[in-house]
Amino acid sequence: MTYSIVFIPGDGIGPEVVSATREVIDACGIDVQWQEQSAGVSAMETLGDPLPEETIEAVRTADATLKGPTATAKGSGFRSVNVALRQKLCLYANYRPARSLPGVKTRFEDVDLIVVRENTEGLYSGLEHIVVPGVVESLRIITRKASERIARFAFETAQRQKRRLVTCVHKANILKLSDGLFLECCREVASEFPEIEFDDCIVDAAAMRLVSDPQTFDVLVMENLFGDILSDLASGLVGGLGVTPSANIGDGLAVFEAVHGTAPDIAGQGIANPMALMFSAVLMLRYLNESKSADRLESAVRGVLAEGTLRTGDLGGKATTRQFTDAVLIRLASEG
Ligand code: NAD
Repeated sequence: MTYSIVFIPGDGIGPEVVSATREVIDACGIDVQWQEQSAGVSAMETLGDPLPEETIEAVRTADATLKGPTATAKGSGFRSVNVALRQKLCLYANYRPARSLPGVKTRFEDVDLIVVRENTEGLYSGLEHIVVPGVVESLRIITRKASERIARFAFETAQRQKRRLVTCVHKANILKLSDGLFLECCREVASEFPEIEFDDCIVDAAAMRLVSDPQTFDVLVMENLFGDILSDLASGLVGGLGVTPSANIGDGLAVFEAVHGTAPDIAGQGIANPMALMFSAVLMLRYLNESKSADRLESAVRGVLAEGTLRTGDLGGKATTRQFTDAVLIRLASEG
């Protein structure tokens, strides 16, 4: 089978890590027809639009999309391409696993959790307005439809992966209506999955428990902003932004990207860690039901790490993107 996969190089280190990841996917032996599309500052400069309609259509019709990070200005400037893409294509579930890696020294050795983040609403609805000069209001939208949908995604993920527990993270003690509704929806969906334990945790307590006792969590489900923050926190537990993958999933379409941003401080130097996007590619291969290729790629990347000799700068080493990619390619070839 030939897969039609869109790739979006993006900005900053995006083109470097996307190109490295395409190489290792091609070396997995699956047949891919790659289609390049633009988004971000680069698209704004060349096409006058940070998220061209052609890119949206290509993502909609592809089997899957591999995306590099795209830059968003703080305060002013165009709206986040990521948020716009997720909302326009209804990529409602953001799936971010955080699992300890061999040879990456962190405070905990046995972290294995999944953050499931609602991707389309909450404070990211983009509904902000000036009430009177000096007073701004941002609307935080929570709907029954999106809350039930993300809760079901979390439970189905837990069921598929034979996970034990789903925890709803919320602030329903203060946000009684909005997070009250989110929690109620999670409880209702939980009743459809009696074999999976369900509990809930207030977001501030969840943050504390994540840094003191992360093994007590398994699958966590939450609204957009809490998910954005806690998934980066979870990534810090296993080695940081350079190692954590993510998937944005909708009905029949998906975009795979690293959790990290464009890393402007190291862009163009050939020293970015491509591992997070390579692990995102593993998620993409699993999504495409290419589990053998996914296992091979995962084991090759983990194998290079476990060897302990090749590390990029973010993990305390001196390896370049090229050297790391070559080491993964050698492992793929030898294990092929
Ligand atoms: P960042 O993730 O780009 O960088 C934070 C720090 O982590 C930097 O020191 C950077 O060098 C380092 N880092 C990140 N990824 C790395 C990698 N693969 N290898 C080695 N080091 C790495 O976060 P930021 O500086 O807050 O954001 C920069 C830009 O990226 C902003 O415009 C932001 O909006 C955008 N962003 C995009 C996405 C996305 O497209 N999914 C996600 C987050 C941030």
